[in-house]
Amino acid sequence: MTDKLAWVDEELQALKDAGLYNNIRTLGSPQGAWLDVDGKRVLNFCSNNYLGLANHPRLVEAVKKAMEKYGVGPAAVRTIAGTMDMHVELDERLAKFKGVDSAITFQSGFTANLGTIPALVGREDVIFSDRLNHASIIDGCRLSRAKIIAYEHADAEDLKKQLEEHRSEYRRALVVTDGVFSMDGDIAPLDKIYEVTKDYDAVLMVDDAHGEGVVGKGGRGIVDHFDLHGKVDVEVGTMSKAFGVMGGVVAGNSKVVEWLHQRGRPFLFSSAMSVPDVAACLEAINILEESTELVDRLWANTDLFKAEMKKLGFDTGESVTPITPVMLGEAALAQEFSRALYDAGVFGMALGFPTVPQGAARIRVMISAAHSSDDLEQGLEAFETVGKSLGVIG
Ligand SMILES: *Cc1c(COP(=O)(O)O)cnc(C)c1O
Repeated sequence: MTDKLAWVDEELQALKDAGLYNNIRTLGSPQGAWLDVDGKRVLNFCSNNYLGLANHPRLVEAVKKAMEKYGVGPAAVRTIAGTMDMHVELDERLAKFKGVDSAITFQSGFTANLGTIPALVGREDVIFSDRLNHASIIDGCRLSRAKIIAYEHADAEDLKKQLEEHRSEYRRALVVTDGVFSMDGDIAPLDKIYEVTKDYDAVLMVDDAHGEGVVGKGGRGIVDHFDLHGKVDVEVGTMSKAFGVMGGVVAGNSKVVEWLHQRGRPFLFSSAMSVPDVAACLEAINILEESTELVDRLWANTDLFKAEMKKLGFDTGESVTPITPVMLGEAALAQEFSRALYDAGVFGMALGFPTVPQGAARIRVMISAAHSSDDLEQGLEAFETVGKSLGVIG
């Protein structure tokens, strides 16, 4: 008998040979500035825990209370018996936080994109999508069966050219972009994209996964950052990054939200968010609405870290957000750098092709409000030592 899965071994070997096999690290501690990674205590420069909420005592306390009242699981999809009053409350609180008419929650940011895009466009339609959009946007676009036209990254001029050339060939149109791009930490020129899009009868959608809780007033996101309230039709977000929990949200025009209650497939066919997730998200919103302290600390840490890295002579790319790429070039060097950092007690992951372009390998540092100034100091020292020993800086 031949092994009908022998191809899997071959494919896995090919990944290992190319240095692209995912070796998954295991944490033995909660999220925070420091982690136990594979048994070693290291400074955490990898997580999306921007505000330090993932292990915040207030979120933990809120979850305990909610579980006493509601248990754990929703035991149904939202449209059958899975909508508890706390789900409705979360939808409403998120809409208010974002300053929009309505919001609908999904199980994750990934499912929010998968549910939203195919509900808005189909076979006869067209999507204009930034070339570097997140995988969940790409998959949502493919699921919709609409024609996909990629425009040059963060390039409103090219978007205009594509709209001018192709918009009229199709029924409906969707323009979709990440708000903050996760590999470079740059942001979409949403003001210019809006100006271009409004003349072409196209719905404008932004995925603000890395902007939620980070950019805008008190972390209200990229639409707030550009002061485009009421002008962006659909804002997708996630509660799994700055909010420190898990869950997705689509906020914006109430017609879109009502339509997603009827046609958002992960909303209709996958169970509701769990009780602990909802309770923790509600408490995260409470914290964000009470004070901008965590968001302010995140930015103070970011500014300090980036300025010091530049002084040391590192190239931190085009980032304007807490995502700090440390550009190294070849993937092998980035991997060696990451290993040396780990030995020096710092957890910083190397990213190489195909996650980033060939020759643009890097360590991506994720700054958090959870870092103390001592933590940042220690991280900078490790970067200096490793950078000098590997000849990256002088
Ligand atoms: C992380 C991310 C997602 C996925 O969010 P989850 O809630 O983790 O599923 C979607 N879009 C973008 C742009 C992201 O960065």
